[in-house]
This record gives sequence, C-alpha cells and structure tokens, in this order.
Amino acid sequence: MKVLKFGGISVKNALSIVAVKDILRRDNEKKVVVVSAFYGVTDTLCETVEQIKQNNVKKAFDLTNKTENLCLKISSELIGCRNSHNFIKEKFKEIRQFIPALCLLGEVTPRSIDMILSYGEKISSFVIADYLNATGLKTAYIDALQIIKTDSNFNRASVDMTKTGASVKKILLPLFKSNDCIVTAGFIGCDKDGSVTTLGRGGSDYTASVIAVCAAAEKLEIWKDVNGIMTTDPKVVKKAKPVSQLSYKEASELAFFGAKILHPKTIRSAIMAGIPVYVKKTSEPDYPGTLIEKNSENKRKVKAATFQKNITIVNICSEKMLGAYGFLSKVFDVFTSYKTPVDLITTSEVNISVTIECCEHLQDIVKDLSAFAEVDITKDVAIISLVGEGIKYTPGIAVKCFFALKDINVIMVSMGASEANLSVIVKQSELQRAVSKLHHEFFEKKGE
Ligand code: ASP
Ligand code: MG
Repeated sequence: MKVLKFGGISVKNALSIVAVKDILRRDNEKKVVVVSAFYGVTDTLCETVEQIKQNNVKKAFDLTNKTENLCLKISSELIGCRNSHNFIKEKFKEIRQFIPALCLLGEVTPRSIDMILSYGEKISSFVIADYLNATGLKTAYIDALQIIKTDSNFNRASVDMTKTGASVKKILLPLFKSNDCIVTAGFIGCDKDGSVTTLGRGGSDYTASVIAVCAAAEKLEIWKDVNGIMTTDPKVVKKAKPVSQLSYKEASELAFFGAKILHPKTIRSAIMAGIPVYVKKTSEPDYPGTLIEKNSENKRKVKAATFQKNITIVNICSEKMLGAYGFLSKVFDVFTSYKTPVDLITTSEVNISVTIECCEHLQDIVKDLSAFAEVDITKDVAIISLVGEGIKYTPGIAVKCFFALKDINVIMVSMGASEANLSVIVKQSELQRAVSKLHHEFFEKKGE
C-alpha cells in the first residue's frame, strides 16, 4: 500500500485531474490519495477572509461566487462526476451563510478562518473521489475530519498521532476490503471538540506523511509540478537537473538555505518511520524524481547548490574584548532582544560576522552593538550553499568550490556545525555567475 499526495497545481483543472487518474492507474497497488485544494482556491478563500475582516460583504460574496464557479467548471468537465455538482452547491451555501454572520460579529477568529479555508480541500477531495469512481477505479471517499485528529492550535494545528493512528486503523484501512483507492483531503483535521482545524499553509504534505505512518505504507509519493528536487534553481542555471537521492538531513539543509520545493518538516514523521518519500512530477510520471530517505545513499557527493538573496552581513569588531570573555553572548543578546534570527556566523577573538535576512530592526541593532563595538554593514549579498553529507567525507570539495569561484570575490565562508553544507557569500550582483560556475564544477562535469 502506498500514499500519494497531489498538490494544488497537480489538481489545477479537469485535464490535470485526468493525469492524476492515469498515474493511479499505472499499477494495481492499494492507494491512499491525499489532495490539496484546486489550484488557487486556498488563496481565494484567504482573500475572502480578508474581505470579511474588513466587513466587505459584497466582495466576500463575489470571491465566493468566483470560487464556486471554478469548482463547478472542473467538476462539470470531469466526465462521469455524478454527485459533485450538488455537493459543491451545498458547501458554498454553507460558506454564504457564514459570511454575513461573521461580518456582523466584526471579528474573524483563527477558528472561523480554519472553518472557511477547509472548504477548499473538502471540495477537491470529494470531486476527485467522485470522478475516480466514475472511471471505474474502485474508490472510497473519506472525510478527513473523521481521521485526522489534532490539537486546537487553529491555523497551525499539530496532529495527535495516537488518536489519528486509531482512526486510520478503525475507519480508513477497512475501506480497502472493497476499494482499491481511498481519497481524502490534505491540510485539514478536527480537534477534540469537533472543530475544524488546519495544519498551516502547504499542510497537505503533512497529512500525507501522517497517514503513511499510521497506515504503515510502503512508500509516500509527493506529486508536484517539478521533477523532484533539482541540483539548483533551473531559473538561474538552465542545466539544473533532478537529484536522484537525498538524505533527510540534506533535504532539510536545502529547504533551510532557500530551496522551496518541499518543507522537510512536513515529511519528518514518514522519514523517521523509515518510509521512503518520492518527489515526482505529475506531467512526467516516468521520470524517477527524487527519493528522500533517512540516510544518505551516496555519501561522497555534493547533492545540490541553493541560495538565498537579500542578505545583510553585520560585522562586529571590538578590540576591547581581546582576552576578555562574554563578547559573543553580548552580541547575541542584542539580536535576541530584537527577535532577529542570525543565519551564518564566522568569528575570531575580537571580530564576528553574522548574516541576517530580516532587517526590520537593523538600525536599533547597530545602535545597541555600537555601545561596545565597531559595527559595519554590508547589504545586498547572497548566500550560496553547497549541500551534501559528502562534504564531511570527501577531500577536495573546498578546493573545487574556491577554484570555481577563483575570479569572484568571496566575502564570507561558513562550513561547520551541520557538516552537510559549505556556504559562501558573494555580492548579489555576482550571484548568477557564481551559482553557474559552481553548478558547472560540481554537476556538469563528467562523472558527476
Ligand atoms: N491548500 C493548502 C495551501 O494551499 C494546503 C496545501 O496545498 O498543502 O496551503
Ligand atoms: Mg499547496
């Protein structure tokens, strides 16, 4: 048995849902299918919430009509859908009843936001199940609220694995007796009082991972609009190619340093349970995609290069601190007091360079640091990170990196703690050139 998750772009319109059906038809394995809302629907529902907050009843109704029409269009284009039309009508009737009531109250609570956002997935999962059944695939639809049990942290709920595990075993798995496929909604769940919760934006991956663990699936497939995780952003380097295998640590480093493909936290439970996770492209199902596992298969490699733009370096120097102690802690207290996360750090006894992304309190930070040090700011730099657990084991990687960048000014270097990444900082204006050179060195040469 496997769990497949299809994101919003994979269920964008009738045509893409037909492609989903073809993917499900490729083998006879039993499947749980977790789907996101149709593309754009969650965003429009969020916009509807904003209009309700501003008491714009008419705009909220207009947006609701727009979303309803989109859902009806998709279901009418999917040949054979029998029950979807009425289901959609009914659900939008419910939404329309909330709007004036919430506007009247003049406040939209996190709980009511979740209530409204949940309709995106409630509808897409019902329509897709209805369609799959019509195509002859024996499919059961299950309301996610029946199985995904969460705490009451609305908008960002956490799943209660014990309760969810119990309902998966009691309600979901028995459906396989007379079905080959079970469809449910990603992103939504329900708390102990029966209120609808959501798992945070992009939360469908989390749902899929939880179900994979609770149902002891053999694998989890996350279907997207990209061929897995790439060696770098293909918008920057055309020759970027998919990475065949990554460890969980590598995938996390990539996400942390700017790659936006997958939020590793969301698949953590599946990985920890030893379930392999595949990231694949809906429009090219023959492509192997990227496999993410707990441990790295090929430890002798740099797997990908990622980058972050709009970074600022704060360089802090205090000769008074020579031989004294407490310098680092004084410096970090300042960043902490302005709730500003520090990303990379390099230090010598009297000098620290740190990078920050958020510059909201930069002026205050500089003022406070200046009380005991000289401070110098470099703006508009970018961090490029080479990621791979192999960096720890393979001699010569730093040499290759700096050789590739031999005519580019490297402002700061960081390699350490996690041992799965080597980061360099360059001027933002040099970013494209630097990434291309690194990509060429590590991923385009023979044998790479
Ligand atoms: N539909 C939700 C969102 O757009 C959840 C998801 O797609 O994973 O954030
Ligand atoms: Mg999404």
